[in-house]
Amino acid sequence: MNFPISFEFFPPKTPEGADKLRLARRALYAYKPEFCSVTFGAGGSTQDGTFGTVGEILKEGVDAACHFSCVGATKATVRQQLAALQAMGVKRLVALRGDLPSGYGAGGEFHYASDLVAFIREFTGDAFHIEVAAYPEIHPQAKSADADLQAFAAKVRAGANSAITQYFFNADAYFRFVDDAKKMGLDVPVVPGIMPIISSTQLMRFSDACGAEIPRWIRLRLQGFGDDLASIKSFGLDVVTDLCDQLRSAGVPGIHFYTMNQSQATVEICKRLGR
Ligand code: FAD
Repeated sequence: MNFPISFEFFPPKTPEGADKLRLARRALYAYKPEFCSVTFGAGGSTQDGTFGTVGEILKEGVDAACHFSCVGATKATVRQQLAALQAMGVKRLVALRGDLPSGYGAGGEFHYASDLVAFIREFTGDAFHIEVAAYPEIHPQAKSADADLQAFAAKVRAGANSAITQYFFNADAYFRFVDDAKKMGLDVPVVPGIMPIISSTQLMRFSDACGAEIPRWIRLRLQGFGDDLASIKSFGLDVVTDLCDQLRSAGVPGIHFYTMNQSQATVEICKRLGR
């Protein structure tokens, strides 16, 4: 059975990284993504790399989504960046608040992603398909689960077309989020974001920072493998493929893979899913 998939990359920091990413993209394109997205460092720190990678993907004949974060930004710079993206032929954005690294003052003219979505709609009308972030396990800074759902609603009502979730390993959290959103009349597709398990330490680090919970049984098993990378990868492939299978059987609108700029694990999961 075919279902839409998309792949996320981050802008490479070195020419070697850029070459590796080109190879990874080539391997992943065989699975016919609906689009590929490129992250954007909060405060515009990766703007050149992000726009450059988005441009390469478009030239390769694949639809590209540019992540776009607004924390610390002014309306004037956002306007310029949107105009540049339109000139490049970008039609899809992932609109985010972002997180400024500690030490940066907050500043800026946007407080939340909903402000950015509203501004993009005001300034560019329907020029872009706008994706926003969703948090089935609740954003770490949210005052409460309900407040976070209201924040999601604000993004949809400001004009978002669809959403991609933070990664999770507990499908029930996703199903509950989607049900709650529907009850509020929010009918946009909510695509699960899926993180292949490539490295145990990296996963633990990311999850602590973004509030994605690693279930105890997964955490303990990964810890038990120690430095045995082959066992970590093999276990990770089983767990993540099962999760995708469960989501696909439930009729999710697509699956978005956080590839970490590596093709191997995502390719293997796509193969196991029969893509
Ligand atoms: P928002 O939706 O603005 O929410 C941020 C917090 O504020 C939440 O706790 C929310 O509950 C709260 N909130 C929102 N509105 C209100 C309100 N009116 N009153 C009170 N509280 C409110 N980060 C990057 O820097 N670059 C990227 O490219 C990037 N890509 C991402 C892609 C996906 C799919 C996801 C899920 C996350 C991504 N992130 C990225 C991380 C993201 O920037 C962080 O999670 C950030 O902390 C929140 O961004 P947001 O757009 O979800 O913010």
